Amino acid sequence: MKKISCHICEYENEIASEQSRYCAVCEADLANVEDEKRLLICDSNALYSTVEKSLSAGWDAEIFLTTKRLIICPLKWQGFGLEAWLSASIYNKMTSNSALISIPLTDIKAVRDCKMGLIMKGIIIDTMDGGLVRIKVSKRNEWKEVIAREIE
Ligand SMILES: [Zn+2]
Repeated sequence: MKKISCHICEYENEIASEQSRYCAVCEADLANVEDEKRLLICDSNALYSTVEKSLSAGWDAEIFLTTKRLIICPLKWQGFGLEAWLSASIYNKMTSNSALISIPLTDIKAVRDCKMGLIMKGIIIDTMDGGLVRIKVSKRNEWKEVIAREIE
């Protein structure tokens, strides 16, 4: 069994065959690292939510921005019914890894400021089909600038 560290999320994938060449966590193509490059990573104190306004600051996640996608990997997949709290449009973007939210940059319409809970500042990412995801990352301004630049 060969191990390959994902160039996007750093997960240590065990590669058994040519068929399983995609990262088990973020689904990046491990055999074609030139295809997708990581631009930003926030792997500590990042939060996400899929509703616009909420008193809750959100859930813990690791968040990645690549040349192709915004990737949100929830750290703890809480046991509530998915459909109940994920908006339908975001749910549809979820991949075969049921916990992952993966939004192609081409599906992002806009990026704007918001609050996460009562105090923290975050970013709202609006998608083309009317969905949204809120994230709280360190270096928020840098994330906003880079996302805005990538979706231009
Ligand atoms: Zn990965």
